[in-house]
Amino acid sequence: MMPTATRPTLDDVRALEARHVVPTYKRQPVAFVRGEGVYLVDADGRRYLDLLSGIGVASLGHAHPGLARALADQAATLVHTSNLYYHPLQGQVGARLAALSGLPRAFFCNSGTEAVEACLKFARRYWHSNGESARTRFVALAHGFSGRTMGALSVTWDDHYRAPFQPLVPGVIFVPPYDPAALAAAVDDSTAAIVVEPLQGEGGVRPLDAAFAAAIRDACARTGALLVADEVQCGLGRTGVPFFFQALGLAPDLVSVGKALGGGMPVGAALVSERVAGAIRAGDHGTTYGGNLLACRAALYFLDELTGGLLDHVVRVGKALGSDLAALAARQPAVTAVRGRGLMWGLELDRDAAGVVDAALARGLVINRTAERVVRLLPPFVISEQEAAEGVARLDLALGDVVGATA
Ligand code: PLP
Repeated sequence: MMPTATRPTLDDVRALEARHVVPTYKRQPVAFVRGEGVYLVDADGRRYLDLLSGIGVASLGHAHPGLARALADQAATLVHTSNLYYHPLQGQVGARLAALSGLPRAFFCNSGTEAVEACLKFARRYWHSNGESARTRFVALAHGFSGRTMGALSVTWDDHYRAPFQPLVPGVIFVPPYDPAALAAAVDDSTAAIVVEPLQGEGGVRPLDAAFAAAIRDACARTGALLVADEVQCGLGRTGVPFFFQALGLAPDLVSVGKALGGGMPVGAALVSERVAGAIRAGDHGTTYGGNLLACRAALYFLDELTGGLLDHVVRVGKALGSDLAALAARQPAVTAVRGRGLMWGLELDRDAAGVVDAALARGLVINRTAERVVRLLPPFVISEQEAAEGVARLDLALGDVVGATA
C-alpha cells in the first residue's frame, strides 16, 4: 500500500492525465488506489462496493490473496519468453478451456478485441484454405459490440464507434437480433461467418432467444457459414454456465474470450474447432505477448477457481441477485425491464442511466451505464449474497435520488 503522505489526490491525478494521457476516456471523478474483495478504496480512503469489476474483468474480486501469490510466484520465476519458444502453461490453459467449451484449441492474445480479430482472420483463413477465397462476408447483429480494433469494430454495430474510422472491413451485414427471418435472408454462401454475442453486453444486456438461436443453427446448416460466438463479456461462467452459447444450444466453430479469464491480467483467447484449426498454418497470425507465462498463470488460477466451486457460487448468488433486482424493479417505476443471467444484469430505465450511475457513485456503489438507458451490473464472481443484496439496496437509494430529484 502506498504511504498516505506520497499518495496523489484526485486533483493531482487529473491534472497529470490532462497533460499526458490521450483523452479517449470520459472518466468518473474518482481515483481508486486499492481493492479488497468486492470493495474498492479511493485516494481519500473512501470504500465503494464494486458491482462492475472493471467491466467484467476482476472476476476474483480485488487483491485476491491466492491470485496475488500465484502472480508473485510466477513473476519471481519467469514472466515472458515470447511465442518463439515453448513453455509449460499455454497447453494447460488450452486444455482447461477445451474441457469447458468443447473447442479443442486456443490461440492466446491480450484482450477481447484481439480475440475477435483472431476469430475473424481464422474464419477467412478457413475458407481460403478450402479453396473459397471469395467467401469473405460476415453477418453480425444490431446492438452487437466486439471491440475497437479495425476488424472487431467492423462487426460492432453502433455508428458512434464506427463513423470516424470508416472505411472499415467491407462486406459486413447487420441484422436485428430478434428477427430470425432477417438472419435467414442475410446469410448465404458468400458468408464466411455469423458473429454474435450470445448475450449482448454493451448493447444493453440482451440475451439472444431460442427462436433466433434456431435461425443461427439453420443458417449455418444451410450455407456452411461458420459461427463465431463472442463470449468476451458473457463467457467463462459469468452467466452461471461456462459459456452462454451452451445455454442457447449453439455449436460455434470459434469463440472469443477475455475479460474474466485473467482476473485482471490482460488475457484473451480465440477458441477454435479442429476443422478451423486444421486450416491454419504457422505464421498466419501471432502476437508477441499472447499467452505469456504470467498471463497463463493468472488464467490457470482463475480456471481452477471456476471449476473448483466458483461456478456453483455464481449460480447461487446470481439467482438471489436476479430476484432482488426483480423486486427492485417492482418498486421503482423508472425501471422498465430487467435482463440478464447469473452475474450479468441490465436494468433498462425510462431515462438516461447516467444520473443513476453518478448517484450510485456518491452512495459508494460502482456500476455503469450502457446503451444510454441501461444500468449494467457485472460484479466479481466471488460476491456473496449479502454483498449483492447490499449493492441492490444502494442502487435502490441511487434510483430514489434521481427519480425523486426529477419527479
Ligand atoms: N467483445 C465483447 C462482447 C465485449 O464486451 C468487449 C469489451 O467490452 C470486447 C469484445 C472487446 O474487449 P477488449 O475491451 O478487451 O478489447
